[in-house]
Amino acid sequence: MLEEWFFEALKGAVEMELPKCQKCNDGLLIPLSDYGQEGASVMFKAWACTNPECGFSLRVDKGEVTYGKKIEYKH
Ligand SMILES: [Zn+2]
Repeated sequence: MLEEWFFEALKGAVEMELPKCQKCNDGLLIPLSDYGQEGASVMFKAWACTNPECGFSLRVDKGEVTYGKKIEYKH
């Protein structure tokens, strides 16, 4: 299930110029930041499509790009 923060991010996203999702051509790709287990910022960014039916995600991890892996939402 999508979390509330996601929809907050979505509302913010429509006011910004974000890249359109190339998979569904409908959603926007929003950047996600992440943090390591010790609370330090991690040098990668994940991008996720705002279209729930699409679910496309792209992850840049220290120069390596991973496509299509589902973003895991921690509770
Ligand atoms: Zn999409």
